[in-house]
Amino acid sequence: MSTYNVDEFVEEFSDDGSEAESEIPRRRNIDLLCQVGVRLQQEIHEDVGQFSDADILDARFDTDEEAYLFYNEYAKFKGFSVRKDHKTVIKGKTCRRRFICSCAGQRANKWSNLQRRRKKARRLTRCDCPALLNIVYSEEVNTWIVLDFKSEHSHVLAPTDGSQFLRSHRKVSVSNALLAEGLYGLGVSKKKVMDLIVARAGSHAAAGCTKRDLYNQMNRSRVERILDGDANVVNAYMEDMSMNDPGFFKKHQVNEKQQLTKLFWSDSQSQEDYKLFGDVLLFDSTYRTNRYGMPLVVFAGVNNHRHTVIFALALMNTETIESYIWALEAFIAAMDNVAPKSVITDGDAAIRSSIETVLPNSKHWLCVWHVVQNSLTNVRTQGFHKDFVDVMFCKGPPENFEKKWGELLTKFNNVAKKKWVHNIYLKKEMWAEGYLREYFFAGCRSNQRCESINSVVRLCVKAGLTLIELVERLLIKVKHIRHRDFEAEANTMMTRSAQIPNLSRIGE
Ligand SMILES: [Zn+2]
Repeated sequence: MSTYNVDEFVEEFSDDGSEAESEIPRRRNIDLLCQVGVRLQQEIHEDVGQFSDADILDARFDTDEEAYLFYNEYAKFKGFSVRKDHKTVIKGKTCRRRFICSCAGQRANKWSNLQRRRKKARRLTRCDCPALLNIVYSEEVNTWIVLDFKSEHSHVLAPTDGSQFLRSHRKVSVSNALLAEGLYGLGVSKKKVMDLIVARAGSHAAAGCTKRDLYNQMNRSRVERILDGDANVVNAYMEDMSMNDPGFFKKHQVNEKQQLTKLFWSDSQSQEDYKLFGDVLLFDSTYRTNRYGMPLVVFAGVNNHRHTVIFALALMNTETIESYIWALEAFIAAMDNVAPKSVITDGDAAIRSSIETVLPNSKHWLCVWHVVQNSLTNVRTQGFHKDFVDVMFCKGPPENFEKKWGELLTKFNNVAKKKWVHNIYLKKEMWAEGYLREYFFAGCRSNQRCESINSVVRLCVKAGLTLIELVERLLIKVKHIRHRDFEAEANTMMTRSAQIPNLSRIGE
């Protein structure tokens, strides 16, 4: 009984050449067919069926790889899968190769007698099939010639079009792999990516790979990217960004195990935006419990179109005062040491202390949205919420506010004893309209504007993405936000407001 040492099928990764050059003439010549084999698979597929055993025994190949491509193409037509078998290497040069039918040999006993089997055993395929192509390099003619060829199989061959399920005929082409990675990076699901590949190719058979092959390929490329350690990859990525954008500002911190603990970045466009719209800084820490163990801090502002602009982003491993100070200091350093006039936050104690330390001259506001939300959760008395909002936004000098506040507590006297009500009153200068009149807020009093950024984080967490993938997506998101503003800007420049002729007449 023959034994086969090479158990593994070495998966080949070659372009399927969907952009085939069809002007290559068809010729029934093996040498030529092999050369064009990769490109004109469909045509060769038909031609390959015409070869007799004698034709194949006479064949010549420029390289062993060419012989493999030919034999695999032949196998696809016949309905079997090819495995790469023995290879003889002398002085570093391959001089003999054997390609066999994937049903050759028998499954090794060790796989049948696994002690702790975790997966269901695969169905048996090997049945000592004798089919093979044996080639040898001939120095005399400087070419590969066929030493042995056996066309008989000891099993049923796959039906027409059934070859698509055979291992050696399935491959994720380079173009499909790149397409899949790109789309997946943009948040398209793996299933949808596969649907698109099938639609593009015209059929499942033409797609050249199964859903499983594509998933495996995508996982492989992800593993390669994170193998280096997420932190290193992120750093390398940031270095890359700096190459394209000399103004790109980044700062990071690692622990004693060289793991990333803090990361801050801001590109030059963001810094330009800050020069223009940096009077008010929205400072928001989001997604406090994510799988990266790293909350994302968003530094944002509002531009002349009342759109959110992102000034900088930071990922930190903790939410301590020190961490926020680190992030704020990085921010001020990135922005040429120009502090914002006002900062809006959600009122977190650590954030407040860090602002007092790093930005002592900036006016600190609480995000009205958060104050309103907190009033809803802390005081459930009917009618209180509406009156509270009225007092919050009441116009006029501080005395007006004080008067209205007194009325509110009289009306809801049971609420007046609540701790939250007491505490929020102590912070009145951070949220009550009456106390904030003299400050410029660009029409923005809520940091809820960072919601679109938050949704990116949520999606990434849900999809179980790595840190580098999160950073990549955030960079894309910032680009989108920026593009929308560019569009608004262009629209303002290239259009005029519609003039309504003779308003008085319309009224008639
Ligand atoms: Zn066979």
